[in-house]
Amino acid sequence: MQLQFVGCGDAFGSGGRYNTCFHVTGESVNFLIDCGASSLPALKRLKIAPDAIDLVLITHFHGDHFAGLPFLLLDAQFSRRTRPLVIAGPHGIETRLAQVMEALFENSSKTKQRFELSVVTLNPEQTRSFGAVKVTPYPVVHGESGGPFLAYRIEAEGRLIAYSADTEWTQTLIPAARDADLFVAEAYTYDRIVKNHLSLTTLEAHLAEIRPKRLVLTHMSDDMLGRLDTLAHTAASDGMIVEL
Ligand SMILES: [Zn+2]
Ligand SMILES: [Zn+2]
Repeated sequence: MQLQFVGCGDAFGSGGRYNTCFHVTGESVNFLIDCGASSLPALKRLKIAPDAIDLVLITHFHGDHFAGLPFLLLDAQFSRRTRPLVIAGPHGIETRLAQVMEALFENSSKTKQRFELSVVTLNPEQTRSFGAVKVTPYPVVHGESGGPFLAYRIEAEGRLIAYSADTEWTQTLIPAARDADLFVAEAYTYDRIVKNHLSLTTLEAHLAEIRPKRLVLTHMSDDMLGRLDTLAHTAASDGMIVEL
């Protein structure tokens, strides 16, 4: 199994990076974690076939994690996709998806897809399975708008992937990511505390409790990107592949 960083940027394109989108593939799985606004061109740039993706897991409704869905769905329609697609995310996803479709492409939310599209609500700490992918969401803390906010603990093919989503430090990150084979964690700033986001030094203070087998940092601001050469951790880059 592998995870490829299709996009690992923040909301502002820091470092010229694409918005958040991770692609996980294995013998029996093919899914995305988040689908930020720039995800469709980023997928095509990496020659990843959007039509082979079975599942998109959404952490929250900010544009840099969610606003790629209208492009993905319209592309699927025009490329005559037949494979069913599941989009799963926090409470309200059905309404928010219709709203963003209408905002970007009028009437597109009313178009009946040629393929079977399921939009599924995920609730905190309720495990759901989608084929060979088992997902447990954990609530995280990321402000007043764009939520609910979910971190994900994902089991597939005997491997465990955790993603913090965007969040300030919260204790739920411990059960979400404990002993994960791969923990993809936001490190928005180095040591500056910014409301609703995670700094690397805060994350480091809790790593002994989380004990991830591998840690990869994502969603970095210019503050972090300027320090990449001096970091003691692996930092994501667009296109980077982690073998699991
Ligand atoms: Zn974000
Ligand atoms: Zn966000």
